Amino acid sequence: MLTKEIRLYVYKQFSHLGTAPSVSQIASYFDISEDQVRDELLKLAEARHIAINDEFEILMAHPFSSIPLGFSVMGAKTLWWGGCSWDSFALPNLLIQEVVVATTCPNCNSAHAWRVNPDTPPQGEQIAHFLIPTKEMWVDVVHTCGNQRIFCNESCLETWLHRTNNQEGYVMGLSTLWALASHWYEGRLELEYQRRDPSTSLQYFREVGLSGSFWGLD
Ligand SMILES: [Zn+2]
Ligand SMILES: [Zn+2]
Repeated sequence: MLTKEIRLYVYKQFSHLGTAPSVSQIASYFDISEDQVRDELLKLAEARHIAINDEFEILMAHPFSSIPLGFSVMGAKTLWWGGCSWDSFALPNLLIQEVVVATTCPNCNSAHAWRVNPDTPPQGEQIAHFLIPTKEMWVDVVHTCGNQRIFCNESCLETWLHRTNNQEGYVMGLSTLWALASHWYEGRLELEYQRRDPSTSLQYFREVGLSGSFWGLD
């Protein structure tokens, strides 16, 4: 029970403040030792509810992030690091409010911003590019999210791939990105949240219009 409660506490802190609680904050909130908190954070990290570093700082609790990965998300009262493009577009749905998502093109540094809300996909000709396929996403999830960016267009993406010596991953328009993000993180602000099993995930990917081996689909 404690593990679930700590997970929810981390998520609530992120949603209200835009940042993650520290080990000592969690320890004093639950009146437990810092060692016990570290054990619990390890369990949550192993179950892929959060990503932590060697100092037990919480880096991510998807779609929230405590480190900059190329996106900011401005709400009515709170400012969040947006994690990746997927995470940033998911925040308005999870928090049920309109936000402004801002980023820069990894190739040419042009600034881009969209008003994103839970009801309609944002307008824009930009493209999202995901570098790491789903089956490898958790090998280094911070690296994965750091490479789920939005480019001006195909030409900026091609130049960037060439310059960074990367192969093209998966490209989608903003409306597909928004559909992918819309319900993916549903339930994470509830105590009894369960991660999707693999077959439900595949079904979800298919329903929002994704295809190919990148997503584990044929
Ligand atoms: Zn560009
Ligand atoms: Zn992400």
